[in-house]
Amino acid sequence: MAETYHIGTIHLVGAGPGDPELLTVRAARLVSQARVIVHDGLVDPAILDMARPDARLISVAKARARHTMPQDAINELLVREAMAGNDVVRLKGGDPFVFGRGGEEMEAAQAAGVPVEVVPGISAANGAAAAAQIALTHREDASVVSFVAGQCKGLAAQNWAGLAGKGRTLVIYMGVSTAAQISEKLMDDGLAPDAPLAVVEKACRADMRVLRAPLAGLADLVSREAVKSPALIIIGEVTARGDAALAQLALEAAQ
Ligand code: SAH
Repeated sequence: MAETYHIGTIHLVGAGPGDPELLTVRAARLVSQARVIVHDGLVDPAILDMARPDARLISVAKARARHTMPQDAINELLVREAMAGNDVVRLKGGDPFVFGRGGEEMEAAQAAGVPVEVVPGISAANGAAAAAQIALTHREDASVVSFVAGQCKGLAAQNWAGLAGKGRTLVIYMGVSTAAQISEKLMDDGLAPDAPLAVVEKACRADMRVLRAPLAGLADLVSREAVKSPALIIIGEVTARGDAALAQLALEAAQ
């Protein structure tokens, strides 16, 4: 008699920017029911605490330049678990399809014939904007918002021209370690040295910080304040709305 076997499903689940309250209802349900959870380092421990006591939690945390598990190995792990009949919750910070390499994991599942479901999450840009009260597309200041990766292959070769400036908001992910190159690059593209920006560190977590500077002061701000990843850099007039922002800008300019 032919043996029947069950292939599990890979759920690519966005865990949001930190606060468990910012999980979708579906993400919360999947996390609390899963028997196998494969998560990366950005997922807040409070979210992992929602897992069943008998759940198998597998960390594939990555640190810049110190990959504990290369992407291929992560893809293989997910497919192997599903092929063994396990439903797998692949829990990723923010949204799986915003700089999360979720696309590669989805394709690996598809190539192996493993069912895959994608559950969106609140991306860091949305979480940081809400927590720092920066309206990314405030009608008076911006009608465009762009998300870019500040640390990627060939940063210098990336064409960001036109993504920042009047009427535009630019959100830079993974930009802490390349802050100096980023501000140079944008000024080379013609952006004013006094263009306002905000750095939002650890958005939606208890120890969040919101720091402001003009573009030319970005590198100095990051080193002076010892900004740590995860942090976002938001560039545009929308970061300078409101009294607190203006007061801080005046302070920076006076230094
Ligand atoms: N998929 C994720 C992004 C992964 S790339 C998302 O949609 O949010 C990792 C980068 O996201 C970090 O380097 C940082 O720039 C940003 N990030 C993630 N969580 C963050 C947080 N809580 N606060 C600020 N930035 C965050």
